[in-house]
Parts: sequence; structure tokens; C-alpha cells
Amino acid sequence: MIVNLTYLGVAGWHFQTVAGSLLVDPYFTRLSMMKMLLGQAVPDRAVIDRFAPSAEWILVTHPHYDHIMDVPAIVESGGAVVYASVQANDLLAALGVAGDKRQVISPGDRITLGDFEVDVYASVHRTILGRIPCEGPLKSHLSPPLRALDYRIRQEFSFRVAAENCRVLVVSGIDNEPAVEADVVLIGADANVDQLARVLEPAAPGLVLPNHWDDMFRPLGKPVRPMHRPPRGVQFTQRLDMVVWAERVRAILPQAEVIVPERFAGMSL
Ligand SMILES: [Zn+2]
Repeated sequence: MIVNLTYLGVAGWHFQTVAGSLLVDPYFTRLSMMKMLLGQAVPDRAVIDRFAPSAEWILVTHPHYDHIMDVPAIVESGGAVVYASVQANDLLAALGVAGDKRQVISPGDRITLGDFEVDVYASVHRTILGRIPCEGPLKSHLSPPLRALDYRIRQEFSFRVAAENCRVLVVSGIDNEPAVEADVVLIGADANVDQLARVLEPAAPGLVLPNHWDDMFRPLGKPVRPMHRPPRGVQFTQRLDMVVWAERVRAILPQAEVIVPERFAGMSL
């Protein structure tokens, strides 16, 4: 048996075996930057119904809007159970997700979901201009529609998803990530050589794929293009360079395969 892995755009991934289907951070609404900053974070049901794979389980790395705002709609239409931090559970509750459809997870947990075994690790969010964006407690009395900036975080996770003797490390941050073995690593395309090496050397994977790299403000109907790099002073307009990223990975792991996958094109592991 095999695991089928599909990139869904942004930080979204779909794992499928003959026995079950698991999503990580599914997000399809892709708010424009203007809406993210000023408008309401309303899930686009038509886009979600078109693109969201059906799944029994959903893992959420952290409750920023681009990782969790579409999750209630996916749960409502497909009945998946969500595994996420305490604060993410509070957000899901405020958005109407029933208690039996969400579970709290913590670093150190190992959870079994069908034939998937998931290890939960602590992660640290990237800083942007020196700060973790939207960090802190939720506002009290939240009710939908929320604004994107209402999705605040206190805790972030990385996951290692194992099935069919294949271990896939879903790396969420870039600065403080687990040093564990894996067969496949999904890691940020904004990571520098040192950040990549700290994960890739102990993991020693045979396959490396970029995570959270496509332009999340661009609708799925438009051609894919990379995200802007996190702003550093005036360098706001520079986009991630996927060729440079792949070269960095190959310099650390000359034997590994490095692929920038097409969205919605599954690959067999
Ligand atoms: Zn985030």
C-alpha cells in the first residue's frame, strides 16, 4: 500500500491511504491582502466545496487565518475531526464547530488516526519585522464573521505523519524545529541554509518539498507564483526563489530528491 500526498496550496496538504484521508492546514479562500488587513475573513464556500478533499481528520499547525479559517466549513460539509491547540479549539468553538468534532493536542502527543500515526512537536512561528504576527490571546466574545487579524496564536506545532512505513515531517516554523528522522520533509522555502540544515541533517530524508511557498493572496484560478519574502525593511517586493531554495537543499542533501510539486497533483510515496 502507498501514501498519496497532495499539495493544496499555502500550507495545505492532503495525505491519503486506502484506509483514510487526512488534511493539514487546508485553506482555499485565499483572501486578498486588502481583505486580510481591512475586511472580514469570510470562507468562500464555493471554492472550498470545489477544492477541499474529503477527509476524516484535520491537523492544524496554528490558528492564523490562513491555516484554520476554512476548517469549520470543511468540518461542516464532510464531518472531519480537527486536532489543534487549546487556543485553536477555542477559535473553532467560537466559529460553531461542535465539541465532538475537535480535539486538543499538545507537543509530545502521539495520536493514531486510522492507519496514520502523528507525532506532535513544538514549533515557533516565523517573525516578521521582528515579531510573531497576531501573537497573544483571543479577544473575548468572538463571533463570526471574524477579521483575519482576530486569528491569534500562542502555540504552534510541527507534525510527523507516518503511514505505510513512510514518515513525513511537516515543518511549520523555521527557527526551532524537531531534529527527528523522516523519509519526506516539507519545509519553508524562506529558510536559509542554517535553518534548513538544522532540520534536514538529522531528518536525512530521501525527498524534500517546499511548504507555504505559493502566493496565498492569489486566487486558485490564477497561475501559481511564489510568495513575497517576509519583509525586511524596504525589500518587500522580492519573491521567494524556488530554484535557489532547491539548490540550498541539494547542497545539504546531495542524494535527496527535491521537488516543487504542482498544486492538486498527488504523488505516491
Ligand atoms: Zn502563521
